[in-house]
Amino acid sequence: MCVPLLSYTPRGIIGLVVTGASALETESERNMRVVIVGGVAGGMSAAARLRRRDEGAEIIVLERGSYVSFANCGLPYYVGGEIEDSAKLLLHTPQSLKAALNLDVRINSEVTEIDPDAHSVTVANSDTGEAYTLSYDYLILSPGALAARPPIDGLDSPRVHALRTVDDALALREATGTRAIVLGAGFIGIEAAEALAARGFETHLVELAEHVLPPLEVEMATLVTQELRNLGIRVHAGVAAQAIAHADNNDVVTLSDGTVLQADVIVLSAGVRPDTAVVEAAGIQTRRGYVVIDDHGRTSADDIYAIGDGTIGCDQDRPVALAGPANRGGRLIADVIADAEHGEAAARPIPSPQGTAIVRIGSLTAAMTGANRQALDASGAQYFTVHTHANQHAGYFPGAQPVHILMHVGAGGEILGAQAVGAEGVDRRIDVIATAMRAGLKAADLIDLDLAYAPPYGQAKDPVNQTGMVAHNVATGELVLTGPNELSEDMPVLDVRTPGEYAAGHMPNSLNIPHTQLRDRLDEVRAWADKNADEQPFVVMCAAGVRSWIGYRIVRAAGFDVTMLSGGIQTLRAWLGDRAATVLVKE
Ligand code: FAD
Repeated sequence: MCVPLLSYTPRGIIGLVVTGASALETESERNMRVVIVGGVAGGMSAAARLRRRDEGAEIIVLERGSYVSFANCGLPYYVGGEIEDSAKLLLHTPQSLKAALNLDVRINSEVTEIDPDAHSVTVANSDTGEAYTLSYDYLILSPGALAARPPIDGLDSPRVHALRTVDDALALREATGTRAIVLGAGFIGIEAAEALAARGFETHLVELAEHVLPPLEVEMATLVTQELRNLGIRVHAGVAAQAIAHADNNDVVTLSDGTVLQADVIVLSAGVRPDTAVVEAAGIQTRRGYVVIDDHGRTSADDIYAIGDGTIGCDQDRPVALAGPANRGGRLIADVIADAEHGEAAARPIPSPQGTAIVRIGSLTAAMTGANRQALDASGAQYFTVHTHANQHAGYFPGAQPVHILMHVGAGGEILGAQAVGAEGVDRRIDVIATAMRAGLKAADLIDLDLAYAPPYGQAKDPVNQTGMVAHNVATGELVLTGPNELSEDMPVLDVRTPGEYAAGHMPNSLNIPHTQLRDRLDEVRAWADKNADEQPFVVMCAAGVRSWIGYRIVRAAGFDVTMLSGGIQTLRAWLGDRAATVLVKE
């Protein structure tokens, strides 16, 4: 275990052994006091579960802000006006939590000091200006994160807003003007940009990474960029905001590519940093500011637990700032404490988060689970990637549209990560794959998943089944793929689409023979392959990978050394992005 745990003793059991007390006295020994820092996702989830497990516990929740248990994930939709009433964001009040769960919830109460040895915290009340000390038997930390502040001159301009709290959302909803700039195109930045564009702001979205939604692969993110443009949002990717000049009428933002933008409102959403200064000051183990926890949420300090955006697991490479892990982890920590207190076997461990995430972009949805290419490459993992574009439901049923799926598969067939983008059915497919990953299923097992099907909902071979089939073909060696990242302009490509499709854009060194004619035209293939003998194997491609799979099998059976372009030209176009206009040849 990476956390240097101090002695870990269930307090109630000590009481039982030492006193040898009667059942009644033992019960009173067990009236533990649990203090929780942070009254939103992780903290409130822990509090609610703890009450259900232990009716006698004294549970005190300390929240720095004026609201508890608010819907931070709903804030962008309030900014955009989809959620009309800000009251809908407030799921509970201290009063409702007292009534339902007998919780002692103290708002405007910031923990300014933790003393692990004395088992106490110091609390500053911003209403009264007073400070007091509170002892605990167990302390749960769920302080979350703050907006990261990149080194941009002028970031303290009053026109710059974060989007983390209810007050931030109220301020943004009231912001006036016509021009908005969002700094950072992660999940929250995208939601903020869409919200502001929906309110009529001319919106610019600035992203330091090469593409929006940096956790997505570029061939998926391009689809998101296109949809953002459809929404009228101007995307500036691969550039940094360098300076913000504040003036009475508007701010002026200068980007690293020399672009100068006027702004009436600026949203800062360039990532997060853990809100853990008070934890670090207490000497509790942290890594890059994140509180290090073991798989039961235990920190390095006795009887102090932590969860949520401000934490990182012992074996976790990167922190995950998502609501699901915070909520479920808070619940599990409550179980750990309740089990220890009641002398029961240790609670289930907190699983390492997969990072399953989803975002709406106009009429599109993008979602992901597990590792992406960058993380896999950094870890030195051996893997291959498949791309599929199957329709979300039967092609003959009105409204069929592709779900673009990408899946990274390990050398042993394990599912390492997946991403999906599309108009419909993305949530379901990513959730199925995320579940398969959690269950330890292999890519080939996706073939056998018995998923709900009727024409309006799916396909008899669901897109998830089909993705498993392609992965299985690769794993068995039946199919050798070339990724869009491996395709160079001089590589010989056998393009098996129709002449019309071919004319609309193809790779420079390619031969067009539709897949239905291939068996009769193998001599042409042979003559062309001989001409390109130095560039073997050649690559078979089509639009989405279905016809090229047929073509690939035909030419391979005829003895040619071939590979197949993963995901066809749909994936290639997305991989190339704006470069597609120059790389692909039109006739
Ligand atoms: P929080 O829920 O942020 O709660 C931490 C609380 O601790 C804060 O209220 C803070 O004031 C308080 N606090 C901090 N320090 C102290 C102290 N010293 N004393 C007292 N109180 C303190 N996740 C998703 O999975 N899906 C989404 O769609 C999604 N959308 C989001 C949209 C927005 C705008 C934001 C901001 C976040 C979104 N998230 C989303 C992320 C999700 O909200 C967080 O992952 C989750 O809330 C983290 O829970 P937490 O308990 O760690 O922190």
